[in-house]
Amino acid sequence: MECYTCGQKLPADAERCTRCGQRFKPRPTTPPAPAKPSLLDRLKGKLGKKEDEENG
Ligand SMILES: [Zn+2]
Repeated sequence: MECYTCGQKLPADAERCTRCGQRFKPRPTTPPAPAKPSLLDRLKGKLGKKEDEENG
């Protein structure tokens, strides 16, 4: 991205201009996706849950 005040080239996620100090509003992008549990974690979760289900 470019600073709309001075034209300084900045990284796309820059919060402020390194040249003139212009602050940019945070872009309304999608929030970072939560880390997906790996297959192994999901299996572990199922195994752990099953014990509870058998009790109930
Ligand atoms: Zn600037």
